[in-house]
Amino acid sequence: MFPEEFIRRIKTQQYIDDQLLLASLQEPSPASIRLNSHKWKRIPSGSVQVPWCGEGWYLMVRPSFTLDPLFHAGCYYPQEASGMFTGEVVSQVTPGMENLKVLDLCAAPGGKSTHLSGLIGNNGFLVANEVIKQRAKILADNITRWGLGNTLVTNNDPSEFSGLRGYFDVILVDAPCSGEGMFRDQVAINEWSVSNTLLCAERQKRILLDAWPSLKEGGVLIYSTCTFNPSENEEQVRWLIDTKRAESVTVCTDTFNGITEIEYERIRGYGFYPGKIKGDGFFISVIKKLEKEEPADYIKNKTRINLDLKGDRVKVKEWLQTSPAAVLNEENKLFSVPVPAGDYSMLAAHLNIIKRGTEIFTQKNMDIIPSHDLVLSTSILPDVLPSYELTLAESLKFLRKDQFTSGTFANGWGIVKYMGVNLGLIKNIGSRINNYFPVEWRIRMSPDSEKIKNIIRWI
Ligand code: SAM
Repeated sequence: MFPEEFIRRIKTQQYIDDQLLLASLQEPSPASIRLNSHKWKRIPSGSVQVPWCGEGWYLMVRPSFTLDPLFHAGCYYPQEASGMFTGEVVSQVTPGMENLKVLDLCAAPGGKSTHLSGLIGNNGFLVANEVIKQRAKILADNITRWGLGNTLVTNNDPSEFSGLRGYFDVILVDAPCSGEGMFRDQVAINEWSVSNTLLCAERQKRILLDAWPSLKEGGVLIYSTCTFNPSENEEQVRWLIDTKRAESVTVCTDTFNGITEIEYERIRGYGFYPGKIKGDGFFISVIKKLEKEEPADYIKNKTRINLDLKGDRVKVKEWLQTSPAAVLNEENKLFSVPVPAGDYSMLAAHLNIIKRGTEIFTQKNMDIIPSHDLVLSTSILPDVLPSYELTLAESLKFLRKDQFTSGTFANGWGIVKYMGVNLGLIKNIGSRINNYFPVEWRIRMSPDSEKIKNIIRWI
């Protein structure tokens, strides 16, 4: 069932119990979610907490996420449990750091970015980047649902970050890899080959070299993969430290059972092996930069960027409980931007920013059209628009963009909610109710009663 070369190799990895690992890889992957504590305080019934992540919960069965309005409202993110250790690592290596500038370089679909966004909160901002365009769009959608507003989403090749010399305090490289940690999925097995592991290792080196210049002296690069292959894990870290002025950083795992500390030529890595932990395979290691970059020669913007125009800040403040770092005005769309105007201009000169913080509204002639992004934002003023609580059946109708007939809405704009959490916008124009749930997010699954029974229950 598993490739022979793979089995042969893990037998040589002394820190892996190959029999236990192979047996465990034949069992189903445990289902887990990470809660968005900025939106939602309840926990799934019958769930068990992930040891290394206070907001992570193992579920009894794999539920239907598509039919759960709370998923669309950004109350949780379905995430594999081992990868949640990244949050613990970030917390340990950034104590007391203020105004963090964080880059998640290989970020789609957004499991770790949403986690980082929650950890950073108002103490800095995140640039979540994905090189593949379609995946970058999915990343942006997940950041929108999460709703914290402290994130810019970019669609760039890692090489395009090298001009931002010494800019970030923390860089996460969750590298594309040979995926052995996901061998419970036959697709991962089918895609595996020795030649592919070699290609992955080469690509990882390139990504690390591209990321390095934009890390500041004293900053940390967190490197992770979901494979067991030493040449994509500890050997990459050793190679980077040999190539650059850097040192390996130790992470404390004493309070968590089952995490394997890997010591390899004086560097440390942390391995997650199914059978020893409940989750998929994962590797993570931290590298501190000990060298300074030459001062950056930031390129200038070719196009004019309208930041903090007179009056815009006041208009945006009418919708928000928090004060934006800057306000961007682009083709009559106003955005609350999480970075100061100077930084935004500089970042925009280097990068293709596809999500600019939180879109607040579009001004169309005399009309203001609030955005879905605003409605899902944790910064929206609570009573800025009338709101209406929907039942589960009504919420699914809303998410399917089915015709809405309920006559209980006042004229004009309103926010619909499910279990007290914002779901989206409607507008009662008298003759009908317009549904402003984004067309491209519309769910197509029919809410048959068996599937609905399978959504998460909360205590
Ligand atoms: N961090 C993500 C999360 O937690 O949801 C998962 C990231 S996945 C392991 C690796 C990502 O790297 C994929 O989204 C993939 O598209 C992207 N990628 C593929 N080739 C790349 C390259 N040459 N440079 C940078 N990223 C690449």
